[in-house]
Amino acid sequence: MCIFCRIASGELPASVVYEDERTIVFLDIQPINPGHVLVVPKTHAESLADLSPEDAGQMMRVGQMMDQALRQSQLHCEGVNLFLADGKAAGQEVGHVHLHVFPRFEGDDFSLNLESFDRSTPGREQLNETAKKLKQAVDSL
Ligand code: AMP
Ligand code: ZN
Repeated sequence: MCIFCRIASGELPASVVYEDERTIVFLDIQPINPGHVLVVPKTHAESLADLSPEDAGQMMRVGQMMDQALRQSQLHCEGVNLFLADGKAAGQEVGHVHLHVFPRFEGDDFSLNLESFDRSTPGREQLNETAKKLKQAVDSL
């Protein structure tokens, strides 16, 4: 059993803040900021595509709920990031899908680097070429 399945079954300890039929939410042991939680589907699936639509939907609904809870809590929270690493190359370390939800505030020193990352600005032709490749894949799902 994977580490998150062992937490979900109660075999390993975790600081649980919410649980329903499909999901369990517990604190990340290496939080980016206090209140950093992981929303974990109880049924094991390694990647997002392996999740049932019901589990994927519930993971996002619970993520929305945790966003609201963080904002209304006594924890320091001026904004919230939701983050999901799908695959090793995307930074996934635990092979059981999970949605990170963590509070943000001015000066917390965390950065997703979207602003500083040197992004290209392709022309419309190139954007359309990329869209075509992706649309083909969407159509064949
Ligand atoms: P990721 O890189 O998205 O796979 O993130 C895995 C996350 O799980 C990291 O932020 C870890 O700190 C967290 N983590 C690993 N083991 C545990 C554990 N036993 N309890 C809570 N969080 C954990
Ligand atoms: Zn698992």
